[in-house]
Amino acid sequence: MNNNVHNLIIIGSGPAGYTAAIYAARANWNPILIEGPQLGGQLMTTTEVENFPGYPDGVEPFQMMDDLRRQAERFGTVFVSGVVTKVELGKPHKIWVEDTDVYETNALIIATGASAKYLGLPSETTYRGRGVSACATCDGFFYRKKTVAVVGGGDTACEEAQYLANLCEKVYLIVRKPFLRASQIMQDRVLNNPKIEVLFEHNTVRLTGEGKVQGADLVYRKGEPDEQLHHIAIDGFFLAIGHHPNTQLFRGMLETDEEGYLKTLADSQACIGAAGVFAAGDCCDPRYRQAIVAAGSGCKAALDADKYLKTL
Ligand code: NDP
Repeated sequence: MNNNVHNLIIIGSGPAGYTAAIYAARANWNPILIEGPQLGGQLMTTTEVENFPGYPDGVEPFQMMDDLRRQAERFGTVFVSGVVTKVELGKPHKIWVEDTDVYETNALIIATGASAKYLGLPSETTYRGRGVSACATCDGFFYRKKTVAVVGGGDTACEEAQYLANLCEKVYLIVRKPFLRASQIMQDRVLNNPKIEVLFEHNTVRLTGEGKVQGADLVYRKGEPDEQLHHIAIDGFFLAIGHHPNTQLFRGMLETDEEGYLKTLADSQACIGAAGVFAAGDCCDPRYRQAIVAAGSGCKAALDADKYLKTL
């Protein structure tokens, strides 16, 4: 092996990336982990993690991610802070960090996670950072004692609505279907919270306000004979309508599904399209999207990378 070429680079600092690093470091591959734009990954945008095994009283995301990071560090993972801007897959793979530093590696684990989706309304862009947010736990504090709306009917939307209900005067939950998709326990909590008003079968048409969000125009039962337009007065508008995978860097190089989630072989975390490239966590998981699943796939990716590196 060329001495300038590293054994293994891991991109991403969520549960998948850190778990891959723990396993790869303990196997003596001296992995380098590039932390990316959001240290700790998406989990850092939640309030408390109650469903990660091993924390019977729940754990703050910062604490959990710090624990994982220190565990990876203990076995010799080297951390690089920065964002990967370009990748060339080959022998070796080349990774550019912040366009300037180039790293070469024999194996690569992609654990770049996923990012929040927006509705795509022009007014959403106008008010981004001025009342529009995709992270209640990051920005909820600014809306204390105010009225806000959350869009979405899944677990994230319900969790964010409850979080905001603790801070705000009132929370509208705007749901496009006549039912919630969230788990039953989350639905019960939302439906029994007197501060949350669920607006079923509503879609957002536009946001309004002078320089910041002050309201939203909604349509009820769009296209039906009883279609109606509503206006709600709000100070904040929170998106919780799902995520898209952070895989743009690999477009055209690795096989993905139509939403861009990386495809892996049926019996391993190996990506399809280049040898020695593995994927773990939400960037290849449109289905479960849980921290524990991401951690499990990070472990599998590290074991698969270990096997691959031994063949070189
Ligand atoms: P989901 O994909 O589960 O839900 C997305 C929601 O947004 C759906 O209600 C969907 O509506 C709605 N939506 C999507 N696009 C639009 C649109 N253009 N306009 C209006 N509404 C829209 O995403 P989540 O982020 O909620 O959850 C992802 C995964 O993470 C799930 O598996 C979930 O269980 C899990 N999770 C678990 C948590 C926990 O256990 N503590 C916390 C948070 C998430 P529709 O139903 O009509 O498609």
